[in-house]
Amino acid sequence: MVKDTKLYDTLGVSPDATENELKKAYRKLALKYHPDKNPNAGDKFKDISHAYEILSDSEKRATYDRFGEEGLSGDAMGGGMGPDDLFSQFFGDAFGFGRSRHNGPQKGKDMVHTIKVSLEELYNGTTKKLSLQKNVVCSSCDGRGGKEGTVKKCTSCDGTGIKLVVRRIGPMIQQMQQTCPECNGEGSIFKEKDRCKVCKGKKIVKEKKILEVHVEKGMVDQQKITFSGEADQQPGIRAGDVHIILEEREHPRFKRKGNDLYYDAKIDLLTALTGGEFSIKHLDDRYLKVTIIPGEIIKNGQSKCIVEEGMPTHHRPFDKGNLIINFEVEFPETSWYTPEKASLLEQALPPRKEDKIPKDAIVDDVTLSEIDNTRREGYYSSRDDMEEEQGSGVQCATQ
Ligand SMILES: [Zn+2]
Ligand SMILES: [Zn+2]
Repeated sequence: MVKDTKLYDTLGVSPDATENELKKAYRKLALKYHPDKNPNAGDKFKDISHAYEILSDSEKRATYDRFGEEGLSGDAMGGGMGPDDLFSQFFGDAFGFGRSRHNGPQKGKDMVHTIKVSLEELYNGTTKKLSLQKNVVCSSCDGRGGKEGTVKKCTSCDGTGIKLVVRRIGPMIQQMQQTCPECNGEGSIFKEKDRCKVCKGKKIVKEKKILEVHVEKGMVDQQKITFSGEADQQPGIRAGDVHIILEEREHPRFKRKGNDLYYDAKIDLLTALTGGEFSIKHLDDRYLKVTIIPGEIIKNGQSKCIVEEGMPTHHRPFDKGNLIINFEVEFPETSWYTPEKASLLEQALPPRKEDKIPKDAIVDDVTLSEIDNTRREGYYSSRDDMEEEQGSGVQCATQ
């Protein structure tokens, strides 16, 4: 004779059911009431899992048969596997609706942090320190929340961690599930005197942790550096990972495309025409002295390249991209002009192109005006105005 048949009733079997019969009964009911398949079944899935967990263990079953549920220790009642873990252990991950598709303990949430890095830091490599606040399992109570062996099942929620609350809204009665406020959904509580003084029964404490992030030569924008198991800890759960995402800051002088660097160089007209030197301060503080060979003749807007002075490749730092230089040729100001200089240039430069107007054409003589830049900027800055002013074109200053 058994003391209590509740767990057998839950599985719909008789108290003398064989191991095989228990297994069959659990299999059938668990599939039917799994929350992903049957979300309205309430605690049914939990109850089935709980019953099977105890009855499938011959030792626990014997204790239950003799003493009922009171005979089982708190550990057997509340602890052990969660319903989802039992389910996936039983069925594997073959069913699409198993909640925990993993082996071993459940993994906690990952954390993501972004750190900004300069192009210099990505060129040279650096170590950045990141300070973060995280939860760690209380070492004083080993994450139990209180003195060992003093845990009691929460009477308010009967150890489920969930309370059903009935609400009346006008003529309607609504039943809602709520995290048990007595035990904070833990299902178990400690007497005030047994509660851990360090974590106050919360099982976890906050800790400040410094992570050393090694930014390696040649790493790129949005690159992820992972510290596995460094996220928040929680008892019975494998801590998640901390992911550091690098964010490349815009550089005042260089632009990066892959491993190539782009640089805008302004050179004067004389250097562009006759050769000379200019320098570029690189990302490691070296200066590149660039020679424009006489006769090379750099045109405005032209691009040239310096081989292997781009960014290092990640893991192969000696393998570098190229440095591409876009030239802007600076012309002298109006004040530079004198008829004497003009005549010298006329001797030196190629002759003027001849401009041909057909003989029978009507000809008007005109001069050039400055473009009114203030009105032009306004024209582009406001999108609303754009439509209205479309067609009015570039504004010229009246002379
Ligand atoms: Zn503690
Ligand atoms: Zn409770």
